[in-house]
Amino acid sequence: MNDRSDQAVREIIIVGGGTAGWMTAAALSRKLAGTDTNVRLIESAEIGTVGVGEATLPQIREFNRMLGIDEAELMARTSATIKLGIEFRDWGRAGDHYIHPFGIHGEPIGPADFHHYWVREQADGSADEFGQYCLPIVAARENRFDLPPENPSSPLHAYSYAFQFDASLYAAFLIDYATERGVERIEGKVMAVESDGEDGLIRSLTLESGEQISGELFIDCSGFRGLLIEQELETGFDDWSDYLPCNRAFAVPCAITDPVGPFTRSTARSAGWQWRIPLQHRIGNGHVYCDRYISDQDAVDMLMDNLEGEAIADPKQLFFKTGKRKKLWNRNCVAIGLAGGFLEPLESTSIDLIQSGILNLIALFPEKRCASSDIDEYNRLMDLEYDRVRDFLMLHYVLNQRDEPFWRDMREMAWPDSLSEKIEAFKRRGIVPRYDHGLFQPASWLSVFIGQNLLPETYDPRVDAMADDHRSRELERIRSSIDRGVGRMSEHLAFIEKYRANFTGRPEDAA
Ligand code: FAD
Repeated sequence: MNDRSDQAVREIIIVGGGTAGWMTAAALSRKLAGTDTNVRLIESAEIGTVGVGEATLPQIREFNRMLGIDEAELMARTSATIKLGIEFRDWGRAGDHYIHPFGIHGEPIGPADFHHYWVREQADGSADEFGQYCLPIVAARENRFDLPPENPSSPLHAYSYAFQFDASLYAAFLIDYATERGVERIEGKVMAVESDGEDGLIRSLTLESGEQISGELFIDCSGFRGLLIEQELETGFDDWSDYLPCNRAFAVPCAITDPVGPFTRSTARSAGWQWRIPLQHRIGNGHVYCDRYISDQDAVDMLMDNLEGEAIADPKQLFFKTGKRKKLWNRNCVAIGLAGGFLEPLESTSIDLIQSGILNLIALFPEKRCASSDIDEYNRLMDLEYDRVRDFLMLHYVLNQRDEPFWRDMREMAWPDSLSEKIEAFKRRGIVPRYDHGLFQPASWLSVFIGQNLLPETYDPRVDAMADDHRSRELERIRSSIDRGVGRMSEHLAFIEKYRANFTGRPEDAA
């Protein structure tokens, strides 16, 4: 076979040095090691980054593992805490609370899924609250954590975890990683984009200094503005504001008062919701809201009135529109991060969507001339990711039972068919169809359905093959096994201290 090295992409330009840009640079530096491909990243300190994005999903651990990053070092350098799930307060009725965990409820005790046994048991009034049958939920409530056992004796003891970290420290960490592996960092503002008139491919970028930077593959990580994908290529935007109308946020960090639990919290407010993300040294807070239902002043007052500790910075306002580019890969430009799209941070999905964008790009890595079949496949996969996140976020809103106009409207809005089908399947028979691709599997849907008071009209009849007292004993056995397991775990901060001690790097590197 002929040598095809002349077909390989040699010059990759990443525009943007936020979380998206540096995650992409780090991954490419790892995956392209040993090739002749250069990766350059342009960022502008004058423009800065969005400066939020602290809660993650367990998938980030796979990303870090792919890079060969040591978790103990990551935790030490990014002031990270453990996240076992998200607690939702007041999302069903005022006073309700439940946790969407990174783990399953119960374990198989018969031919039907566990939740059918629970539904039957609670109809008799003898079941405990659903969350008490899930180890990461009980651990989160008791402020405890230890690494999941490598070979758990039962699925009950298999759970996952993510991190809550300082996003700017994570970016700093990745800058070191990527630049040590050959990524060239260019400080400067892109002022102009030069495209080829014939095929519309981007050829080069001109910086404020006048320097011209040419490339073959361009990765747009320029944030909401979508400098290449939208401003230059006019790709178009699927606007999902009708489905997810929140469009503004205020963010502010505050001091820690109570011991920080290993979970993120989302509390419903009159026209949106407030997040609380504990780090080792501070708590990140924010109020996401829809400006049609509350003024900016009331929104910021509500946030500041509900901080548990003293604010340690001024509140920062952010504006956004929910949706995604019509194509995340267009011509020789791939948009990753906010440049590609944004869905509100209710389930901490943005960094995960960045990760999917990077992994799909690596899997479909182009030759010099991008094949349209690869572009189509990339866009199909990313569309699925975004659609599924959108439906799962909407689920929280449409299942609310609150009285305020915002929440009434959220209940009554038109739903995508894909969401209606899932809700109907659960409502009728307690079935949660599994996705072949994309985030949020049945365990996640179940926790929101039941957490927000949607119970199936009926349960799987196979449950009745088990005698009532046998079923009750099984549920009690599961609950007490979880209690015992959690009782043996470390207190969350004690775990962090212990884990951080594994980091043997330079003390000045620790946050
Ligand atoms: P940015 O951080 O905006 O970076 C853009 C980069 O492009 C910057 O470096 C900028 O300097 C550069 N740039 C732009 N224009 C030019 C130019 N002309 N020349 C040179 N450089 C340029 N995600 C989560 O996963 N978890 C969360 O908890 C979470 N919370 C969020 C809360 C809110 C309110 C918002 C709005 C977002 C949240 N996100 C969260 C999303 C998360 O913040 C982003 O996905 C993440 O920070 C990535 O941003 P980015 O790198 O795409 O863009």
